[in-house]
Amino acid sequence: DPVIECTDVVRAYTRGGGRGLFSRNTQATTVTAVDSVSATIDRGELVGIAGPSGSGKSTLLHLLAALETPDSGQITITGTDTASLSERGRTRLRREHVGIVFQRFHLLPSLTATQNVALPLIEHGVGKRDRRARAQTLLEAVGLGDRLTHRPATLSGGEQQRVAVARALAGDPDVVIADEPTGELDSAASETVLDILADVATEHAVVVASHDPAAIERMDRVIRLRDGTRDTDGHA
Ligand code: ADP
Ligand code: ADP
Repeated sequence: DPVIECTDVVRAYTRGGGRGLFSRNTQATTVTAVDSVSATIDRGELVGIAGPSGSGKSTLLHLLAALETPDSGQITITGTDTASLSERGRTRLRREHVGIVFQRFHLLPSLTATQNVALPLIEHGVGKRDRRARAQTLLEAVGLGDRLTHRPATLSGGEQQRVAVARALAGDPDVVIADEPTGELDSAASETVLDILADVATEHAVVVASHDPAAIERMDRVIRLRDGTRDTDGHA
């Protein structure tokens, strides 16, 4: 079974329509950020989402992560329709099946690398000793065995992103979703993070939204967006 199945998904945003600063009324405009996109994502795949700025990459990623639900069409994550769940149900679905990596890492500055990775495991009901052991194993796997007690500010950008990848893996998700994971990194650090994501993709599904050509080139398969719709289905 696919990890994520996306069928004719549409997500639109409405802007304006209120009172303008200089005019009495402004016309509401609707932007269809994602327009009838279908895609299937399987375990063992490193899938890119590419396209120019404003083409719908972030919106699609948020839909695939069940952070948002489609206006029409359907997204299933390990067989569950995300729109059938309450907000709490979606939070639980994410906790059990999805790991998320952000462009700007979003680590907690007051916590060590180990504590940052262990944090999501509290919600999984894992005890303190086991949380620490799992966090250390994951940090060793991303090459940070010598940075366990470092706080984010004392780590390089590449090291912080590797901590974020380890954190995303803490709950053993089916899919890791990364939004511009190399956007803040130099090319050497990007390369390391992409190596790790490729390795993660041997056992999980990994989806990476990016406009970094070096990142897109590393993907097994690329979903190209243009004005919210799928362009040609390219192979990197
Ligand atoms: P990308 O990630 O490729 O830059 P986005 O998904 O961020 O594209 O945006 C796609 C389109 O949807 C853009 O026109 C953007 O302005 C619009 N959009 C995205 N999010 C919102 C939002 N929360 N409210 C209004 N418009 C949005
Ligand atoms: P940026 O670098 O532009 O801040 P990020 O990659 O850090 O972008 O974040 C991408 C998007 O995810 C942002 O729109 C942000 O609002 C959202 N986001 C950040 N942290 C969380 C979170 N913990 N849960 C849900 N959404 C988040």
